[in-house]
Amino acid sequence: MSIAVVGSSNVDFAARVAKFPQPGQTVSAREYKTGPGGKGCNQAIAVARLGVSPTFISKIADDLLGRQLIDTLRSEGLNTNHLIIAEESQTGTALISIDDAGENMITVVGGANMTMTRADLHEKQHLLRECDYLLLQLECPVVAIDCAIKYAREGKAKIILDPAPVQDHVVMRDLLAISDIVTPNSSECLAMTGIEPVDMPTARAAAQKLHDMGPETVIIKMGRHGAFYSSAGQTGLVPAFEVTAIDTVAAGDCFNGGLAVALHGGQSLEDAVRFACATGALATTRNGAADAAPNLEQVLELIEGRT
Ligand code: ADP
Repeated sequence: MSIAVVGSSNVDFAARVAKFPQPGQTVSAREYKTGPGGKGCNQAIAVARLGVSPTFISKIADDLLGRQLIDTLRSEGLNTNHLIIAEESQTGTALISIDDAGENMITVVGGANMTMTRADLHEKQHLLRECDYLLLQLECPVVAIDCAIKYAREGKAKIILDPAPVQDHVVMRDLLAISDIVTPNSSECLAMTGIEPVDMPTARAAAQKLHDMGPETVIIKMGRHGAFYSSAGQTGLVPAFEVTAIDTVAAGDCFNGGLAVALHGGQSLEDAVRFACATGALATTRNGAADAAPNLEQVLELIEGRT
């Protein structure tokens, strides 16, 4: 039994500023932090911290940041043997500014992530055919994502597609048609269905539209409202866990990592969504992207109501 993750890896550079600079202006930052990011890396680290070692397929450049990132992944207990090393290009980066109001401004440099090709996935096809769950997001070229799904479908894998960032309608339809589980957040759900999920009826209507595009299971991440699930005629809204949220970056990625771990462990869909909600909630209580992911004990404590 295994979980595979195909997706982006970045090094995040996050600066805290009182106010964002205007065009042409320079401002001083109070504090600066660097850490692992990128949706693929966030989901892989979330899975690893929850006690399952994923097969992580991601493209990183042979540069200083790439080497640092590989060290970080190793220190998280991840197997780095399946990473693809880009000969040229730079390791992906995200340049993040956070102001005193908690707003953020992010510039992502896709770099090596955007050079992932079908040929790269061809080399990894045996890993994809063997996995039970495949976690995907859309920060790598769509042709590579599509290829990863096709190899995984030749085996027994369930495909969990995080449609982030949302692509155009034709691309989304093609990917949804070959995915088993789709996990948009509210704004991605609105972009894909034209319906903003704010309560059970709107979430149910949006989920139906997404089912019509292919996935048998739809899970809508609704921030502090929790998450809605719909599968084989069963629907439900799992309320969010009450936490003091300070930084919601990567909450959705940690949610998806938690979802895969719980399903892989044989939990029912409702229990798996609850486990995912707890993982996402804990991620909001910490700063950073992948660094915000909780461990298994913390998730179980939150679910069981222990303090
Ligand atoms: P994304 O990070 O992709 O935008 P969400 O903001 O919906 O996704 O967060 C993912 C999940 O994390 C939610 O479904 C919820 O379970 C949990 N979560 C997010 N924000 C909060 C919050 N303020 N309080 C409690 N749980 C939260």
